[in-house]
Amino acid sequence: MERVCLGCGRTQKHTISALEKCSDVYCAGEMVYADSILYPVLVMLNNKGYKTKHCRVGNVFNATTSTILTFENGVTFENLPAGCGATYRTDYKTGGKSVVVMYSHNNYTDIVERQLHILSIASLLLEWADGLQDLRGE
Ligand SMILES: [Zn+2]
Repeated sequence: MERVCLGCGRTQKHTISALEKCSDVYCAGEMVYADSILYPVLVMLNNKGYKTKHCRVGNVFNATTSTILTFENGVTFENLPAGCGATYRTDYKTGGKSVVVMYSHNNYTDIVERQLHILSIASLLLEWADGLQDLRGE
């Protein structure tokens, strides 16, 4: 899993010593986890105030895989991208704020179909994120 900077888009391989902030001292933006295909989606969501906790696009080599985005700070969504669902859970750490797990199951048995599904979900998520209201009111 890699991380992308919300400030400048710089990416970083995840390591034990991974920095919490961008390694560019002039940027020092926050780094969030993201599969590379979802970099623009994750940057857009977080910069609009939809704080992500976890994200994975799914493994094309697994027979059953899912694209999953996990959000914190109690966000709710009126609309989801086509083919996506969401479950709302209580944050087990804080016991309060809801955590939203948005998912799209990928049940294709053919690897080409599975990869095409991943690409299509990434496109749908980007269009969806682009249309979301900016929670920061900017
Ligand atoms: Zn940066």
